[in-house]
Amino acid sequence: MSAQRTGVLGGTFDPIHYGHLFIADAVRAHAKLDRILFLPVGDPAHRPVHSSAADRLEMVRLAIAGNDAFDVDTTALEQPGPVYTADTLALLRRKLPGDELSFIAGVDSLTVSRWRRLDEVAAALSRFYVVRREGVRAEDLAAIIGDLPAELRERFEVLDLPLVDISASVIRERVQAGLPIRYLAPDPVVHLIDRRGLYR
Ligand code: ATP
Repeated sequence: MSAQRTGVLGGTFDPIHYGHLFIADAVRAHAKLDRILFLPVGDPAHRPVHSSAADRLEMVRLAIAGNDAFDVDTTALEQPGPVYTADTLALLRRKLPGDELSFIAGVDSLTVSRWRRLDEVAAALSRFYVVRREGVRAEDLAAIIGDLPAELRERFEVLDLPLVDISASVIRERVQAGLPIRYLAPDPVVHLIDRRGLYR
């Protein structure tokens, strides 16, 4: 395939939901990207997961089916854990040598836990798109990227998108409490969670 402008959305996707799908599409449109690659992480460095890598991958596949600009990549699932984004991007760069890579993340993922080797991450990207999240101060980002050299700091861009107050944790809590999750995630994802008895 020829070189593309590719946006990377990494996450545990435990499960994937409409918040992820919305930011992926909104950033794609804003940045005029050719496609978004969803990268489920097998064994994230600083948090537990609540369903198997296979289930999470399948839920991502179901959720993105029908959008030609969305694709899934298993690089971060195949990495022996704990997974750091700097390593994932180096592996992805080998798979996609000509692509212009950007990263997409919610501001919480940068401010709640410090990223190791953020300088390497930024250096591997042409842009880093940060999306605001309910209850998280975007101002805190300045302190986190403040230590980076100016040419790397300039790669970060905070987007002012409508806030979608859905999180995977809320979905898991609702499943456990026996409450409906329909319309928080695409129907095929909701059905799979139900069929396999996930998060109960
Ligand atoms: P959890 O509730 O388990 O922490 P999550 O909903 O944040 O999960 P992740 O898979 O950890 O989901 O998120 C992947 C990326 O998507 C992160 O950068 C996260 O900040 C971002 N993200 C997730 N949900 C939203 C949302 N509703 N709005 C904006 N960004 C989001």
